[in-house]
This record gives sequence, structure tokens and C-alpha cells, in this order.
Amino acid sequence: MLDNKIETMDRKDLEELQLKKLQATVTRLYNGVTFYKNHMDAMGLKPEHIKSLKDVANLPFTTKEDFRDTYPYGLCSVPKSEVVRIQSSSGTTGKPIVSCYTKNDLDLWANSVARGLSGIGVTNDDTVQVAFGYGLFTGGLGLHDGAQKLGCTVIPTSSGNTRKQLMLMMDLKTTTLVCTPSYALIIAETAKELGIDLTQSSLKYGMFGAEPWSTNMRTDIENKLGIKAYNIYGLTEMQGPGVAVECTAKAGMHIWEDYFYPEIINPETGEVLPEGSVGELVLTNIAREAQPVLRYRTHDITSITYEKCACGRTHARIAQINGRSDDMIKVKGVKVFPSQIESILLTVPGVEPQYQIVVDRRDGFVCDNIEVRVEVGEAAFTDRMAGLVEIKNKLNAALQSALGIKVDIKLVEPHTISRFEGKSKRIVNRSELGE
Ligand code: ADP
Ligand code: ZN
Repeated sequence: MLDNKIETMDRKDLEELQLKKLQATVTRLYNGVTFYKNHMDAMGLKPEHIKSLKDVANLPFTTKEDFRDTYPYGLCSVPKSEVVRIQSSSGTTGKPIVSCYTKNDLDLWANSVARGLSGIGVTNDDTVQVAFGYGLFTGGLGLHDGAQKLGCTVIPTSSGNTRKQLMLMMDLKTTTLVCTPSYALIIAETAKELGIDLTQSSLKYGMFGAEPWSTNMRTDIENKLGIKAYNIYGLTEMQGPGVAVECTAKAGMHIWEDYFYPEIINPETGEVLPEGSVGELVLTNIAREAQPVLRYRTHDITSITYEKCACGRTHARIAQINGRSDDMIKVKGVKVFPSQIESILLTVPGVEPQYQIVVDRRDGFVCDNIEVRVEVGEAAFTDRMAGLVEIKNKLNAALQSALGIKVDIKLVEPHTISRFEGKSKRIVNRSELGE
């Protein structure tokens, strides 16, 4: 472990530490950020009212809209001279979200990533290829600083240029690949085309995140790359990747609780839910200087456990994130996440992990009907027609039994669905496809 004392800290001590940090953060925000002062005043809340961790539930929520309304520096609590970096979210609509960091914030960010890498077995003997995009997106620089902090040899390839990526991977004997799971699949596909057998290469570990991926996708990536693959979670608003990271127990991602205070809420009522319930993850920065955020509504759906992990760490774990509440669609009354569909598709032999969910008409998240478009391996296409019919029947049965509804399935030829070097987009409107 990178920081044995903190990572295995007795929960009582950890909670005491959290309370102290939380109180300091709330005081700092009340005195330094008009946005929070106004909200707290309107609620009749003073920093000294925060007497226990449970009192977090009385603090105001912060939303993506609040970031936009206060853009660019309205949530920043330090003088501009102390801000040494600004990152921004890949945000798809409206004004971007900016995140400010002091030197110390960058150090804590690097720590949280380094703890994660160290937790899966990566050491300073490892060569880490960072194939997350570099730039405003937090993936590249976040993983870069974390791996460097651990003393690894870092190769900052960024995403894209996959052939060169593979050449460097082979020549420099990369042991650890970090990128989005979708890009890991592109790397695997390109390697196959070039006749490179990655299972025979130096690659040992993969740390993938920035988008939802299913357990079946994990197995697929592990088999194709010959590695052990782990999940990393984070978001620009709170810091970037490394907020939570999986350990070798593969039993959820440890949230670094000395930096973040997590809650799970009912997304409709805002009420805090008990341990184990599935709901929306809400996070509070308790160790950040430049831009601590109170009760950020992530829209990410998960659950949390405080049970000590098999790895010895005491920090809480969140379950794999199936999607954001805004990715969820409701078809014929049933709530469906793309990653659920992904998981089912990958149980059927002959199906490739490349799919799209095509929606005809959509009213908010309610859709009349969806079409699941999925690629089928070369073999199925060159085989008899009967092979395709059999795959389609199996998919129909598997989707219907898992989701309880019938969806349209369209099998398509290899390499016909768009690939993503960064985050993938699984749900598309038919009109966007020009159909
Ligand atoms: P954007 O909001 O524009 O996508 P970010 O890059 O900050 O910007 O993305 C953060 C979001 O990415 C998270 O809120 C979450 O929805 C998703 N995400 C990040 N890591 C994971 C992961 N390991 N599993 C599932 N979703 C993830
Ligand atoms: Zn663990």
C-alpha cells in the first residue's frame, strides 16, 4: 500500500479525521465563497452547526448548473495567485465546468491515483502508458501525475494514433495500460489486425474508467490483452480520476475517505439512504483547497459499503457504476442502462463488444422502443445464415429474460459501429445516424 496508515485506518479514527476536515472546509467556504455563504444563510446554517458527520445532510447540494451559473471562478475559494492548474469537463452541452487546483490539490490528486495504482500491484518498476486524452480532460494528466508520483516510467501517449501506441507498447515493454475501456478495445482490435498477440506482451495491468463498463466487458478486455483490468472512477467537479479505485479484491472501488465524504441519496427526494441502498452518489470534498465542493450531485448510480475489504483497506467502497441517471432510458416502463445491455450482449458467443442503442422517439428518458445494434464476429458472417439466426435468437431470449421486455435487435458486420478513443456514446437517436 502506498499509505498504509491512512488506507487501513480504524474507521472511528477515520471518521474523526473526516469531521475535522469537513468542519474546516465548511468554514472556509462560508467565509470565502459567496455562493455557499448565500445558500447557508438562506438555510439559517452556520459552520459551527456542523457538529457530526451526519450534519452533512443539512448542507446544500451543489449541481452541474451551479458550476455553470458561477462559471468561471465563482466556486473558487483561494486567490487566483494560488491556482496552478485549471481542468475542464468534457461536458457535452452548455458552458464547460472548470475545476481549479492549488499545488497541494494536485498533490492530493496524484496521491489518490498513486494509491489506486499501487493497490493493484503497480510499482516504480512498472512502465505505465497513459492512453487517456491529455489536455483539459482530467484523464490524461490525472493518471500521469499519479503514476509519476509512484515513480513509474510514464509514457504519455494520450489517446489516438493506435498503431504508434502499439509500437511503443511493444518496444518500451509497457506493463500497465490506462485509458477508457472503449479505447482498450480499439487497441485490442488494432493489435489483432497487425498480428500482435498482446497476451504474449509485457502488459500485466490495466486501469480503465471515465465511462461505465460491465463485468463481462472486463473479462473480454482481460482475455484480449492478457492483463488484469481494474476500474477507476472520478469526475472533474471533484478532482478528476482517482476519487475511487478498485483493489485486487475486485469488490468495489475504494473511495478515499480522507479526501471525500460520500453519501447515497434518493435522486427524487434528496433523502440520504442507508448503507447498501442503490441511489445517486453525492460527494463532498473535505481536503481540497482551491475549489472544495459540498454535496455534489454526481447523477452516478451506485451503492456503498463500509465493510472492511479483503485487501485490508477500511475506506468505503462503491459498487461498479452502471451509468448516470441521465443515461438511463425507460422503455415500456422498464428502466434500462446501456451497461446492463452490454453485459447481456457479451454472454452470447459470436457477439463483439461493440454496440449502439438506437432510439426512435424520446421524451426525456422515456422511449417507445429501442433497437440494439451489435457487431457480430467475422466467423458468424462467413458461416451459414443459420449462424446469424441462432445468435439473434439467443440475444432475443437473453435480453427478454434479463430486462423483461422485447427489444429489436440488429446484427451488423464487424467494424461498422463507431469506435471511441475517449468516452463512448452508446445511445443515439436514429435521426443522428441519418436514417
Ligand atoms: P463529463 O461529465 O463531461 O463526462 P468527466 O470527464 O468529469 O466529464 O466525467 C465524469 C463522469 O464520468 C462521472 O460522473 C461518471 O458518470 C463517468 N465515469 C467516470 N469514471 C467512471 C467509471 N469508472 N465507471 C462509470 N462511469 C464513470
Ligand atoms: Zn480493497
